[in-house]
Amino acid sequence: MRKPILAGNWKMFKTVTQAQSFVEHLQELNEVPAEVEAVICAPFTSLLALHLALKDSPIRLAAQNVHQAEEGAFTGEVSALMLKDVGCSYVIIGHSERRQYFGETDESVNQKVQAALAHGLLPIICVGEDLDQRNQGITKQLVESQVRAALAGVKPDDVSRLVIAYEPIWAIGTGQTATAQDANEVCAHIRQVVGDLCGAEQAKRVRIQYGGSVKPENIEELMAQPDIDGALVGGASLNPGSFASLLRGA
Ligand code: PEP
Repeated sequence: MRKPILAGNWKMFKTVTQAQSFVEHLQELNEVPAEVEAVICAPFTSLLALHLALKDSPIRLAAQNVHQAEEGAFTGEVSALMLKDVGCSYVIIGHSERRQYFGETDESVNQKVQAALAHGLLPIICVGEDLDQRNQGITKQLVESQVRAALAGVKPDDVSRLVIAYEPIWAIGTGQTATAQDANEVCAHIRQVVGDLCGAEQAKRVRIQYGGSVKPENIEELMAQPDIDGALVGGASLNPGSFASLLRGA
């Protein structure tokens, strides 16, 4: 049985004070269901404060990026060890915004996945097609090659613990969502690819999220799909009330 995982990707939003106030409000709402794993993916600057604020909470913490090297002369970068040290359980890797604006490639995604796992951080690996690729009918092909590249050389047991987020780029931040059936079809294909790479048991265990304009109004339909095990949510995760509704819906 796969436990649904709902992750709020705050992107480059919220100061430390705003992050603390979000957690206070969320805790007042007291709505983190035990059946759902809740994750907050915060900017680096708020991670320590959130770690301290969430000390007695089941909510897990994630970073939004990591560097692939152990340490070294990489000005402005943050290592997996540093993220683990500051209380992160997860890290988003290969978000389409990082691929688009910061030159991340399938190869660097794979290196980051390996670096994260080496330090006990679980990757949330993002894959997904743009509108042009969707219109060309190559969505599954494209997503499959991103998944194969990201998981190259990763041990099957590690694969079963990590998370893959299927995020069609045309649906991110646009208000447009894939239909629940379309999203499920791609997630099912990703599961098949994992099965092919690592075996049926691992494929059954790996959690696959959908992301792209998920909100309280559409989460239930998405989560009702057999191969969708949670959501990666940007905009609708920024408000504690909306995040609590998403957790209920998941
Ligand atoms: C995201 O940031 O991964 C995302 C899916 O954003 P949004 O929910 O705003 O579309």
